[in-house]
Amino acid sequence: MGKVLVIGCGGVASVAIHKCCQNSEVFQEVCIASRTKSKCDALKEKLEGTTKTKITTRQVDADKVEELIALIEEQKPDVVLNLALPYQDLTIMDACLATKTNYVDTANYEPEDTAKFEYSWQWAYRERFEQAGITALLGSGFDPGVTGVFSAYALKHQFDEIHYIDILDCNGGDHGYPFATNFNPEINIREVSANGSYWEDGHWVETKPMEIKRVYNFDQVGEKDMYLLHHEEIESLALNIPGIKRIRFFMTFGQSYLTHLKCLEDVGMTSIKPILFEGKEIVPLQFLKAVLPDPASLGPRTKGKTNIGCIFRGVKDGQPKDYYLYNVCDHEECYKEVGSQAVAYTTGVPAMIGAMMLMTGTWNKPGVHNIEEFDPDPFMEALNKWGLPWQENFHPALVD
Ligand code: NDP
Repeated sequence: MGKVLVIGCGGVASVAIHKCCQNSEVFQEVCIASRTKSKCDALKEKLEGTTKTKITTRQVDADKVEELIALIEEQKPDVVLNLALPYQDLTIMDACLATKTNYVDTANYEPEDTAKFEYSWQWAYRERFEQAGITALLGSGFDPGVTGVFSAYALKHQFDEIHYIDILDCNGGDHGYPFATNFNPEINIREVSANGSYWEDGHWVETKPMEIKRVYNFDQVGEKDMYLLHHEEIESLALNIPGIKRIRFFMTFGQSYLTHLKCLEDVGMTSIKPILFEGKEIVPLQFLKAVLPDPASLGPRTKGKTNIGCIFRGVKDGQPKDYYLYNVCDHEECYKEVGSQAVAYTTGVPAMIGAMMLMTGTWNKPGVHNIEEFDPDPFMEALNKWGLPWQENFHPALVD
């Protein structure tokens, strides 16, 4: 069918590329381009001979628009799949605009020097993408990503109106380290040490980090503590789900993780303000990233399951209705299949599916769009087919 250019070759990209190679009817060619080319070459070597997909590799600094444009012009992909870091979203979107190429990512833009993520910067490209006749699909991971698809599916098939959404992200996995993050440590720590917030009655309610705690009994994982965080899909769902009254996002954390994080914060290690160290400027959080375990190394050691989904409450045919849609994913099964743990897997699979939706023309809506703006049905079908089957519960326990 066509060619995808994947930018970045970290934990999530590795899974997405494995999945593209399993789906070689759609992904006839994959070009992997990242800052460190040796990582792209190692992945190509691992996959070649196991797939009909043709794999090429390139070096690129995705902070540089000119380099990206040259790469896209050389490769002529149907879709650019951005699996680098949120800091590169805008440069990659600029290059897609200049070359009239479709764009997919899994995380919204965040300036490197301010821990603030929101869609405004990317939504500002709406008209230009529309005029260029190309589609940008924003947030095609799990959360954001599948959570938006679940919301669109619930609205289409289960409700006349959705009033409350609670997104619950549970990682019941154990990697045996006292402290490690499951995806890029810098992005992860910026996210969890920020103030929390939720959407209620048309406005944001801000909370202190980890201020709101609940306990939930997750299917196939058991009882876990979870904490309210700000999360990017709240912003787009608040716009795209008519009649919504409240959206909250909760993520589970173990006590050891929280104790370590608090200590690291207290000593200044999570700061993103540069400091002078032995005559050189360093960012404490980037230094911390360098000494923490690489999330990719967690794959062989992580046991247990993730359970991520959405509890919806609303109205169908005049009657109140509750509905829980979720996926359970096993870390060890993921490692057996693609050599990664479930957090990378649950992000990389929807990234491949999002690229497939644009590649096949199943989703084709010029402009810049969040995932819940598209027909959820083909994506839901693909989730079952490509390793993230979903489950429904019509009488879920609710979160107070
Ligand atoms: P990693 O740090 O493992 O990988 C990032 C990759 O991007 C690395 O290969 C890195 O290169 C490359 N990169 C970074 N900067 C540049 C640059 N300037 N030019 C070219 N390449 C660059 O991160 P993850 O795989 O864990 O995360 C990838 C993305 O997925 C992030 O944006 C993250 O926020 C998002 N994510 C989304 C989730 C969701 O559910 N929606 C969940 C988890 C993650 P190098 O190897 O040289 O460092």
